[in-house]
Amino acid sequence: MEKITSLAKRRGFVFQSSEIYGGQNGAWDYGPLGIELKNRIAGAWWKEMTRLHDNIAGLDAAILMHPRTWEASGHVENFTDPLVDCKKCKSRFRADMIPQENLAAKKCPDCGGELTDTRKFNLMFKSHIGPAEDTASVIYLRPETAQGIYVNYKNIIQSNRMKIPFGIAQIGKAFRNEIVTKNFIFRTCEFEQMEMQYFVKPGTDEEWFNEWRKQRWAYYEKLGVKMDHLRWHQHGKDELAHYAKDAYDIEYLFPMGWRELEGVHNRTDYDLGRHAQFSGKDMQYIDQDAGSERYIPYIIETSAGLTRNVLMILCDAYDEEQVAEKGNDDDWRTVLRFHPDLAPVTAAILPLMKKDGLAEMAQDIRKELQDDYATDYDQSGAIGRRYRRQDEAGTPFCITVDYQSKDDNTVTLRFRDSMEQVRVPRAELAARLKQEIKGYKRIK
Ligand code: ATP
Repeated sequence: MEKITSLAKRRGFVFQSSEIYGGQNGAWDYGPLGIELKNRIAGAWWKEMTRLHDNIAGLDAAILMHPRTWEASGHVENFTDPLVDCKKCKSRFRADMIPQENLAAKKCPDCGGELTDTRKFNLMFKSHIGPAEDTASVIYLRPETAQGIYVNYKNIIQSNRMKIPFGIAQIGKAFRNEIVTKNFIFRTCEFEQMEMQYFVKPGTDEEWFNEWRKQRWAYYEKLGVKMDHLRWHQHGKDELAHYAKDAYDIEYLFPMGWRELEGVHNRTDYDLGRHAQFSGKDMQYIDQDAGSERYIPYIIETSAGLTRNVLMILCDAYDEEQVAEKGNDDDWRTVLRFHPDLAPVTAAILPLMKKDGLAEMAQDIRKELQDDYATDYDQSGAIGRRYRRQDEAGTPFCITVDYQSKDDNTVTLRFRDSMEQVRVPRAELAARLKQEIKGYKRIK
């Protein structure tokens, strides 16, 4: 993880928030390559969940919601973690994350000092809206994007003439006052979620739950993620959230071990039922195709962390490789093997030399490709070193303009993964890139 964190900073994927002031715990800034990667992961998810389905609509609800929302959802009462402090070294722990022996003996796992009793700690960030700090003006930063979907479910049925089963997808920020934030961007106080809530008729919920588990697994396969680094974890009875009938996590083998990446949950009619109760509004669906039958739909939720997906994709792509064919045993390269659909830069255009019109030709080629592909241009340093820089940024294709290019209008296309090079006519470049991206298969 240290290697990934340091590469992420060095190459401008992720920086510590407010670093010049010593950093802000639990918050990170996405640099030029990081924002491109994050946007592409979000784009891949959005395409998968909305464009490829006729019956899933998008939404972008506000982060600030009426405080009753969080009473109805159960967050005010239940969204807590068990907290213990060490009286000696002042370290703070989640009681469910330290060894049970330490908890039972009230012994700090770090320094052996005495631990406090376990107390409940609500993870929601609470603030006030308006000038008066009275209870009437309490406002929360949303701890999940899901509730914004539930409160809009009737609006979307009406505006889009949705019929059950249908889904609503949303990507957005969520905030949790996490007791322990570590492992880089894995668990942070400010993060982004990609959630799709699927509204189904009660009785069909188990079938849809299984269907969405299948689809979410296939999605990661399509992105070229190492499938032996993914597994399912079913929530046991003691783990199930108060609203859930069944829940599975997709876990990824991060450098620190298997950890949750995404959850697929059968949330029953709990959420809409509670919003009906707290708002006094009728949340029933009227099934026009079944004699106006009325019911509160069950909800199947797929909930993935976007920023956690960024970390997963970085870990999954990271590779160090001895570059043997150079005949130099010390020659290693660091390479991010991103799927070309996710890579922050798709193609880098590199003139072999700055002079003799090569730079101008390379710039022209960049202009030709820029509209359809994310490109980079680099003319400084030895060509080998420039390739390494692009490998480290995860750029799948390098296009090199050399003297032959001037003679016959061909360029070298170099592949990041195999480091193979082929000669391609300039006029065929855009089509060739398209074909390579569509047919991409990870080789290592
Ligand atoms: P955990 O058990 O790790 O605290 P959770 O089970 O509370 O997570 P959910 O409420 O199901 O998580 O949230 C759905 C997804 O949102 C998670 O699978 C994860 O990818 C992401 N997520 C949740 N909390 C955080 C966080 N603090 N930082 C980054 N991503 C998060």
